[in-house]
Amino acid sequence: DGGLNARLAGMLPDIVQQMASRVERGEVARYIPPLARIDPRKFGIAVVLRDNSVLVAGDADEEFSIQSISKVFSLTLALGKKGDGLWSRVGREPSGDAFNSIVLLEHEKGVPRNPFINAGAIVIADVLLATHQPKEAIGEILRFVQSLADDDRISVDRHVAQAEMATGFANAALANLLKANGNLDNLPTHVLGVYHHQCALSMSCRQLARAGFFLTSGGRHPVTCRQVVAPERTRRISALMMTCGHYDGSGDFAFRVGVPAKSGVGGGILAIVPGIASIAVWSPGLNQQGNSLLGTEALEILCRQMNWSVF
Ligand code: GLN
Repeated sequence: DGGLNARLAGMLPDIVQQMASRVERGEVARYIPPLARIDPRKFGIAVVLRDNSVLVAGDADEEFSIQSISKVFSLTLALGKKGDGLWSRVGREPSGDAFNSIVLLEHEKGVPRNPFINAGAIVIADVLLATHQPKEAIGEILRFVQSLADDDRISVDRHVAQAEMATGFANAALANLLKANGNLDNLPTHVLGVYHHQCALSMSCRQLARAGFFLTSGGRHPVTCRQVVAPERTRRISALMMTCGHYDGSGDFAFRVGVPAKSGVGGGILAIVPGIASIAVWSPGLNQQGNSLLGTEALEILCRQMNWSVF
């Protein structure tokens, strides 16, 4: 509605300004070479409301690497293919461990704790690969995200994907351990190809907030109004975002912000205010847990001022 729009239109530029003055901005992800070169002063925010209106501020139309935020879209696709059968291959508990941890995987016989840590997302990529060629599986994920955002300009940054293929030895270790435990159907190299390409999806805050709209609207597409996902499924995906979306920082994020959200090491966060708004924020500097430092702070300010919380 108009009142909500007007309040946000005043608030977003103000948040951008507050964030611009911060000296402590966290560290950009250095382990993926192209991400190490991103300017840490970038900051963008976009909010899509239920009526599909979009409010943006800062660098909201600049594309960035969505990285682990892609795990929301791949999980949604995999649930569409496998339904609840998926849960025999991946758990639904927060790990309390780093996103790339291999420790629990060894203890738990190759069944990752949840679909948002790297090990879990690699299993999901295996599900999406199924009998496809890796290129087709990547194409399917890309087209799904394009259709959710109603924007076919969205693309995969091959340079980022190739850099991670060349340097992602920890992910290769995870994939090999999963394979050794019988939890990958395909070859680890093929599965890693799918996984690293989905992580290399390049999107702006505006595109990302639009792509997340279906989680706000009980599964409805923003433009066609078609039911993309059943409402019950959007609630479950949101529950996983709340409990596992920020890895070992998930508890703190829930405490401070109070809405389901998924982060990525590119510095993006997709946050869902059920029934009200889909928010994307981008600030490349990360905190200790690999989540956007100022992105979290901006969401904390916005949600407090708007009185947005699921609690
Ligand atoms: N592609 C990254 C990795 O596998 C994704 C990690 C993240 O965004 N947390 O390490």
